[in-house]
Amino acid sequence: VEPGVITGEIQKLADRHNLVYGGDPCSSESSSIGGNVAENAGGNKVMKYGPTGYHVYGLEVVLPSGEVTYFGGKRLKDVSGLDFVHLMVGSEGTLGIVTKITLRLLPKPKYSVALLVPYPDIDTAIAAVPGLMSGSGVVPTSLEFMDGSSIRAACSFLNIEFPYADAGAHLIIEVEGNSKDAVFDDYVKLGEAAIEAGGLEAFVADNRNTRDKLWKARKSIAEALAAISPVHSMEDVSVPMANIPKLIKRSEEIAKKRGLEMIAFGHAGDGNVHVTFIKGDLPQEEWDRNLPLAEKELFDETTELGGCISGEHGIGIKRKKYLASIVDEAQLDLIRGIKKAFDRNNILNPGKIVDL
Ligand SMILES: Cc1cc2nc3c(=O)[nH]c(=O)nc-3n(C[C@H](O)[C@H](O)[C@H](O)COP(=O)(O)OP(=O)(O)OC[C@H]3O[C@@H](n4cnc5c(N)ncnc54)[C@H](O)[C@@H]3O)c2cc1C
Repeated sequence: VEPGVITGEIQKLADRHNLVYGGDPCSSESSSIGGNVAENAGGNKVMKYGPTGYHVYGLEVVLPSGEVTYFGGKRLKDVSGLDFVHLMVGSEGTLGIVTKITLRLLPKPKYSVALLVPYPDIDTAIAAVPGLMSGSGVVPTSLEFMDGSSIRAACSFLNIEFPYADAGAHLIIEVEGNSKDAVFDDYVKLGEAAIEAGGLEAFVADNRNTRDKLWKARKSIAEALAAISPVHSMEDVSVPMANIPKLIKRSEEIAKKRGLEMIAFGHAGDGNVHVTFIKGDLPQEEWDRNLPLAEKELFDETTELGGCISGEHGIGIKRKKYLASIVDEAQLDLIRGIKKAFDRNNILNPGKIVDL
């Protein structure tokens, strides 16, 4: 594919051929595959399929020198030289311009079922996640977390009804497979485990129409938030999955201490949560003063929990000043050295990730 193709178009085309393109960021209807490659986009199906980089076999790249080269190719194995494909993936457009991408497609599973499980409060929902992932004996394709405020924002934005819209939080759990009976067993196991962990009910979306409606709500949260609370700062922290409950608790404490509103949603099954601080009615001066403090505290807590400051959105400019808190000087030097080796005149996305 060429880099400007919208990811959702690739998904649809693969589907028509009974295949799956496994990358599925929530921005699939608007983001391009080139952007996904540059950011190593994650999304909703990382537990089963992995992030974008898992699907990239080869890349045609225009180097800053103007030379055109091809890294990798239509092959599963390649140790002839260095793994430039996966150096390019996630490099945020700082090393070269991707002009063609060779992607891996997989056979499409015959059956998919999504469960929607409301919980009375955030803590109960998030505490259920590690057990669902490790204790049920089933690895779901997706396990998404939405706190009550985010789901209500999406409902109001899309003007839709949602079961238990006043619940404290919801989980979406999706399983897929080729045997109807096996998929049934899996979702029953997960549904029972989700209810045992405090879920109020498990709604089953076992046809495309209901599943699409569910995912539409989930995928609209970021846009809904932008419409309803335009002044906010969405973070993208990622921790070992077992530490997700602690991450949410500590984020709530930080928001409270700094007088900020907060919502949280995201890819709980792979430990990646979009903790989002919202200005709300806070005077601008206080927001400007308190937000950087809250972000620094969030990143410190994340690091202490064994996590990283960005799971899928990248460092860019926004998080550049915090990179040194998670990678040591030796690694920062390597990043600068690689950037210089590719782009000695610093013409591609200068100022992103690191300063030279
Ligand atoms: C509503 C919403 C939901 C989102 N959900 C997710 C999610 O679930 N998971 C996730 O990972 N992200 C998500 N994102 C973030 C974003 O969509 C992703 O990072 C996506 O991969 C960016 O693609 P884009 O086409 O929008 O890229 P852009 O924003 O246009 O570009 C991103 C970066 O890639 C570089 N770039 C773009 N094309 C190329 C190229 N051909 N060669 C080299 N560099 C290039 C650009 O210079 C830029 O630095 C979401 C964003 C929104 C708005």
